[in-house]
Amino acid sequence: MNPAVSKVREAKLEFYRKKGKIHAKAVQGRFNSLRWAMVWLTQIVFYGACWLPWTTEAGARQAILFDIVDEKLYLFDLVLWPQDALLLAIVLILAATALFFTTAIAGRLFCGFACPQTVYTSIFVWIEGKIEGDHLARLRLDQRPMSARKLLIKSVKHGIWALVAAWTAITFVGYFTPMRELLPAIASFQTGPWETFWLIFYATFTYLQAGLAREAVCQHMCPYSRFQGVMIDPETANVSYDAKRGEPRGALRQAGAVNKGDCIDCGICVQVCPTGIDIRDGLQYQCINCGLCIDGCDEVMDKIGAPRGLIRFTSERELAGQPKVAGAWSRPRTLVYVGLLLVFTALGTWTLTERVLLRVEVHRDRGTLMQETIDGRIENSYTLKLINMEEATRRFRIGVSGLPGLRIEGATEFVVEPGRVHSVTLTLSSPVGGMPTGVQPIAFETVALHDPGLAVREKSTFILPTH
Ligand code: SF4
Ligand code: SF4
Repeated sequence: MNPAVSKVREAKLEFYRKKGKIHAKAVQGRFNSLRWAMVWLTQIVFYGACWLPWTTEAGARQAILFDIVDEKLYLFDLVLWPQDALLLAIVLILAATALFFTTAIAGRLFCGFACPQTVYTSIFVWIEGKIEGDHLARLRLDQRPMSARKLLIKSVKHGIWALVAAWTAITFVGYFTPMRELLPAIASFQTGPWETFWLIFYATFTYLQAGLAREAVCQHMCPYSRFQGVMIDPETANVSYDAKRGEPRGALRQAGAVNKGDCIDCGICVQVCPTGIDIRDGLQYQCINCGLCIDGCDEVMDKIGAPRGLIRFTSERELAGQPKVAGAWSRPRTLVYVGLLLVFTALGTWTLTERVLLRVEVHRDRGTLMQETIDGRIENSYTLKLINMEEATRRFRIGVSGLPGLRIEGATEFVVEPGRVHSVTLTLSSPVGGMPTGVQPIAFETVALHDPGLAVREKSTFILPTH
């Protein structure tokens, strides 16, 4: 290459490599479209789902709500209680395993397309582009001394960023406090202490992370980038530069030029990279596998009439020209992940379908162990907590077993409101003659009248005189 041209190109690249703020060049292509499709999909779900109403026998409520006060998680018709923590643990294990599986197959795919940091950075950079102009205009503006015009442009941008961050925080808190209660509370400055804290924290967090920190989060804060190395192997497909085909790089091939690779050293792949790296230097922990350099390079290849794919999703083994020893899906590590996904999906499904929507807690009256009645029977007192985990009012009948002649004095049927805990004080009585003495095991059987299959048996003890 002409040394003068090379010098200009290097200076141009240096312009982009200058760390500090990275202003990536906009690019069109398959991966950019996929990225924006993910932005739309995730944000429609995030901003929209908290507005979905849901009506049950218990009344109308928000379809998705983490009700911290009542310790319940509402997911449409499903209501989870603290006792269902196992399900949450299974969901977390499934999410982690799915992430490991995706990484083993295609590297940091999650980072490039679905990570909230990537998604919000894309939105904030899009806003920045609309206000400040393209990447070159933004670079120039940043390097210019402060002026009234620059102050105005920057103020507008930061103002809009702050509004987006604030709405994101409101939406986030709206999953914990019903939106229709939260908005009036915000408007009248009457949010509770934890709501106020999370509104301020989440808005600040979004503004700083997506507006100011951006790629620095992926490069320096995200632990995932550090341990991804142990989750990938030579079969993992990553965004890679085909050095065999591209090198030696140089200016566009002239007619008759020999020993030139397909890389024309245009630097587009660096200019479009949101983390500001040069993929031609090999696999780097800063790479989030977003594929934008593929879009940029494919466009260049189209223009020079070379085949696409100089930069592409490919494995280390394929790049080295080695035959595949096993299919990408059938390596031991991916099979282990698939196995874990199947096992935990089955376990989660079983746990969900087998959960009993009635819980009963039995507490003996600690004050008086027993007392004798005028007709010679022995009484013990208990408090039962009937927890109706359904979204409908239910009537339950309580029975008792374990000793001959043991019976409940008073009412045995109780109505419990949807999703409520109903405390019942029960007195049991037993004859004395011919009975064993001391502490005797008994059991309470609680049955739902609308569904005899919904029954819970809880063990307890009944105390009889020792002589
Ligand atoms: S975009 Fe393609 S041709 Fe241009 S420098 Fe990067 S790899 Fe080389
Ligand atoms: S090197 Fe390519 S895939 Fe990696 S972050 Fe940069 S643009 Fe995205």
